Amino acid sequence: MAAELLGDTTPHTNDPCDFCGSLNRELLATLDRHGKPLNTGICRTCGMVAHWQRPTEAELQEFYTNEYRQSYHGEETPSPRRVRRAWVNGQRIYRRLKPFIGPKDSIFEVGAGIGCNVKAFELNGHRAAGIDPGEGFQRFSHEQLRADVQNRNLFDLPVSQQHDVILLIHVIEHFRSPRRALEHIHKMLPANGLLYVECPNLAAPFATRSRLFHFAHITNFTPSSLKMLAESCGFRVVECFSDEGNPNLQVLLEKSKTMRQNIDEENYERTLEAITRYNALTYSLRPSYLFNRVAKLASYAAEYLIGPAWLKGLTQRCQAEKPMNQVPVQRNAA
Ligand SMILES: [Zn+2]
Repeated sequence: MAAELLGDTTPHTNDPCDFCGSLNRELLATLDRHGKPLNTGICRTCGMVAHWQRPTEAELQEFYTNEYRQSYHGEETPSPRRVRRAWVNGQRIYRRLKPFIGPKDSIFEVGAGIGCNVKAFELNGHRAAGIDPGEGFQRFSHEQLRADVQNRNLFDLPVSQQHDVILLIHVIEHFRSPRRALEHIHKMLPANGLLYVECPNLAAPFATRSRLFHFAHITNFTPSSLKMLAESCGFRVVECFSDEGNPNLQVLLEKSKTMRQNIDEENYERTLEAITRYNALTYSLRPSYLFNRVAKLASYAAEYLIGPAWLKGLTQRCQAEKPMNQVPVQRNAA
């Protein structure tokens, strides 16, 4: 369907599907959400949507270096608004997972960013640590929040099974191969260890197809494609918290003994249908869109006004709970 619309623009080089290995893929889009060239394809066998050609590790490294400079202008301290949003998110994730984890379970976050999720669990009595490949706000995380977030790469970590729960929050879509990442994480967990994943939901309403894709999001998951991949890497779904309209997938997985390579044969058609459901007008006229826009603007204003005082209170609290000499020394990636 999409290949016919795009005619001769279909590029010939096509990476195999990360889930099923098929080369039978169809081009969905040739531009990213900013109008820059980016080829995105859907696997006709399993419905997995990903870059037509996955970037090399060197290309990714260069992208993140430039992206970081452009987005943050080299600032070493995140804005109060950024920290506040990350903090509120960390509290939400803690409350969500609390019924599923033991009081002494250890938590490890892959892609921990500022460190607010790690800190949320730590302040509630858990051993909590994380890694982040970027040097972004690590100084802030380390010195202000006293969070144990180290500058390391997932694949450099030993598979020692020392973590009861692993968090992967808006990270899985960034991996060159999500399969490789889940397989590595599987080895890091003990039997019945938990993995909590959040990532954008491709099946949720978006303005238009042209607004969907982003260079940094190498794989675009639907509820079904995330489930298929997780099961084939040795996990079972404990609970999916997000409904189909949620812009983010929120799924709790458990390490299981079996790896099931089941292909949901309807995922391809369902995914195509989902991403062509809305156009810009019908999307913007949805009551939930209008409500969310107003709520967002109000929260921006509140964050701007109270942010600095709030941040001061937070850092004082974190520093009082964990003096500097108890913070593990950070190690750079090998
Ligand atoms: Zn596939």
